[in-house]
Amino acid sequence: MVRRSREIFAGELEIKIFCLLNRTRVGGITVIYSGIAGSEGITAGKAYVFRKHQTEIDAVSVASAAIHTELDKLSEGIALSRTQLVRLKEKVEKELDESKAQIFEAHRMMLEDPEFIDAVKNEISSNSISAASAVKKVTEDYLAIFEQMEDDYMRERAADIKDVSSRLTRNILGISAWDLFSISSPVIIVAHDLTPSDTAMMNKEFVLGFTTDVGGRTSHTAIMARSLGIPAVLGLGNLSEKIKDGDDLIIDGIEGKLIVNPDERQKEHYDKKIEQFKTHRKKLAETALFPAETLDGKRVEIFCNIGMPNDIQSGAANGAEGVGLFRTEFLYMNNHALPSEEEQYEQYRKSAELLQGKPLIIRTLDIGGDKKLPYLPIPEEMNPFLGWRAIRICLERRDIFRSQLRAILRAGIHGNIQIMFPMISGIGEVREAKKVIEEVKEELRQEHAAFNETIPVGIMVEIPSAAITADAIAKEVDFFSIGTNDLCQYALAVDRMNPKVSGLYQPLHPGILRLIKNVIDASHKNGKITGMCGELAGTEEACVILLGLGLDEFSMSATSIPVIKDIIRSVTFKQAQEIATHALELETPEEVLEYSRSKLNEIRRDLVSGG
Ligand code: PEP
Ligand code: MG
Repeated sequence: MVRRSREIFAGELEIKIFCLLNRTRVGGITVIYSGIAGSEGITAGKAYVFRKHQTEIDAVSVASAAIHTELDKLSEGIALSRTQLVRLKEKVEKELDESKAQIFEAHRMMLEDPEFIDAVKNEISSNSISAASAVKKVTEDYLAIFEQMEDDYMRERAADIKDVSSRLTRNILGISAWDLFSISSPVIIVAHDLTPSDTAMMNKEFVLGFTTDVGGRTSHTAIMARSLGIPAVLGLGNLSEKIKDGDDLIIDGIEGKLIVNPDERQKEHYDKKIEQFKTHRKKLAETALFPAETLDGKRVEIFCNIGMPNDIQSGAANGAEGVGLFRTEFLYMNNHALPSEEEQYEQYRKSAELLQGKPLIIRTLDIGGDKKLPYLPIPEEMNPFLGWRAIRICLERRDIFRSQLRAILRAGIHGNIQIMFPMISGIGEVREAKKVIEEVKEELRQEHAAFNETIPVGIMVEIPSAAITADAIAKEVDFFSIGTNDLCQYALAVDRMNPKVSGLYQPLHPGILRLIKNVIDASHKNGKITGMCGELAGTEEACVILLGLGLDEFSMSATSIPVIKDIIRSVTFKQAQEIATHALELETPEEVLEYSRSKLNEIRRDLVSGG
């Protein structure tokens, strides 16, 4: 939330040591750390430290007498890796589906490949190096061969080889397994960073909360935590190096605090806060299913953002009236190869059917930036968020784009599906992308395949040049959806992932408000609508201003919906317009924030007093 990312922390670590004299504490000293409040909620549990970079190893020579020991370590490492892979396969088979489980079977086969094992043994014996160094050397040799292969499928197998090799290395070195998928008891994950693919693979049933050293409120880790309703505190500096597995933790995702080894007094305090939070949530839930209508009858739409079809249920339970953003990259990240057209079609169709005619805005692949695919090599870039991303990749890799468009168009006959392009910088890209849709439609016609001929097409407005030229683009599209997460990072030149500059990431900056107004006005002049699927749409302090600016649709993490609906139902549209007009005249983000907070308090007071 704006308030929290501004006020708290700018990446600084505030450490207070409590209880040095407190005899009731158990375990180590209580320490409170401050970070960025990434996802609301409070939880307590044991730490599970996720250290994926521990497998970086240098070549280690061993004395010839130790060669046998290294060969034994290799055999034990292989045996343990085999057991883990078999377990993972069974788990995925049970909890996801059989096709996804096959990847672990393939990994087991690679692990047991006699040629691979012989090559490693040979390295150990002939070059007198440690088992871990030998695995590293043989893996590098394999990778060099695979990465040069012409065939995409074979090239993509390089990622699997890396995966198998790093599992084996960890097991040889005795580093505790960091498979987020194999967690089998409730824990709080403590990590340097969690990529979207890490979070996609984790066993969510047992994840009570996250803390990370890096990341900001609009990083995909925070977005994922919010959509799962899991408390998260991010931007904690190098904390993951200090916390040990099994440490007692409390995460306060409202204030952005992490309490390590709390004493009895702290535990009592937080038990009360947990109860208060639950009561507050319960109260909001009572009205979450009501329409988002102002006191004077202006109706707006409240949608949810999803990463997978299953998120639709939690959206609906929180009062979502549709899906304003389906981040399809999660379908790709949950796979070990590009998902086929058929696989995608099934997921889109399932989502449309679950929504029973309510809108489903499917965003085409938005990979790049902080979202990587292990099987789609993206060259190292100086500035990944300014690099080969999203529509730029799709317009180049037409094979990937066309297969996704075919799946969406075909699923379009099963519900109210709309297509949305990410990272559009200008009208040229819109025309080019629409041309591909037309080509794909023609192909489907030739095949006599059933598809939606009149599917609406919109764009995300998340690059300032698109926001500024929205009047021209509005003529080419059916709708806009403002992606404030990226729009802010590009317009304010503030990396959304970097806690060091998170204090400068101010979505209520007057410059951003003017861009938003420009987009909404341009769409309305052309008879189109504007939604917002960036995190600002679910931010309490922004809600009344956005409503007053004329935003037609708000799309957010499911758990933010009840409070946003509550605010919209507490004001008149006229009041919201006056507040927006005044906010636009203010000069600094601080003034806008202070003003919007004071107005929000007034609205809530009036409501309580019946005024
Ligand atoms: C955005 O940029 O606001 C957005 C919704 O897209 P993402 O967060 O996936 O980049
Ligand atoms: Mg974006």
